[in-house]
Amino acid sequence: MALPSKGRLAEPALALVRDAGLELEVGERRLFTPCRNFPLDVLFVRANDIPEHVRDGIVDLGITGTDLIEESGLPLKRGPKLGFGACRLQVAVPAQGAVARLEDLAGARVATSHPRLTLAHFERRGVAVRLVAVAGSVEVTPLLGVADAIGDLVSSGSTLAANGLRPVETILDSEAELVLAPNGRAATSELVETVQLMLASVTDGRRKRYVMMNAPTESLAAIRDLLPGLASPTVMPLAQPEMVAIHVAVDVNQVWAVLARLREVGATSILVLPVEQLLQ
Ligand code: AMP
Repeated sequence: MALPSKGRLAEPALALVRDAGLELEVGERRLFTPCRNFPLDVLFVRANDIPEHVRDGIVDLGITGTDLIEESGLPLKRGPKLGFGACRLQVAVPAQGAVARLEDLAGARVATSHPRLTLAHFERRGVAVRLVAVAGSVEVTPLLGVADAIGDLVSSGSTLAANGLRPVETILDSEAELVLAPNGRAATSELVETVQLMLASVTDGRRKRYVMMNAPTESLAAIRDLLPGLASPTVMPLAQPEMVAIHVAVDVNQVWAVLARLREVGATSILVLPVEQLLQ
């Protein structure tokens, strides 16, 4: 499996692999590390080389960004999205300029490290531009007079703002993904499937919290109403008569909205625990 050796995806990718229970050599980051408790070798390479390594069969699977997979144009099999490295490939222009729409950029010079995706976007919209391919620091090119606009990755937007730029349009939403060879080797396919399952169980677990509470039996219906769309909660009798313990997995984004209301309908001793892994 290939993991990004540096950059924004490196640390969270390694953390995901470790959280899935795969033990890698701790400490120094080497080019190649065998896994201690699973028949898997990890290769640390640049995130933008990973699609090609997967295509060439150097690795059976890898973790990299949607933007890099799409920019490679390679016919790879896509695994689950992994819940980190979220960003957008956006067209941006100098904040003070007159450009309001993509069409206003006809004839402009557009700097990007994603030439394939950026050009395809302008072409789809029938706007002819001149691409300036750069390897990094895309956001400074308008300031240097090298380009009139950029196609660059943005997460919070603060780097754009700091460079006097504003977004015009989003080309692509990106996130870290698992990527697999389209025709994987039969000899390793079962292992690949297991790794995929282990990683997906961590990302699914991170999207949930395990909520435990005590409540009067008569509150059960109201509590169920507060937890829509969930599999039926576990309900267990307590030593105290007419009281039950309720355990349920709640969507991480709903937890805070749900907690206060659970208390209102009679739940007490509410515990919220992380879910390390979840297999559905
Ligand atoms: P890096 O190696 O740090 O240049 O970035 C590698 C990958 O991290 C990119 O190709 C994206 O998939 C992802 N990424 C996530 N957020 C950002 C961001 N704000 N800027 C650049 N890359 C990002």
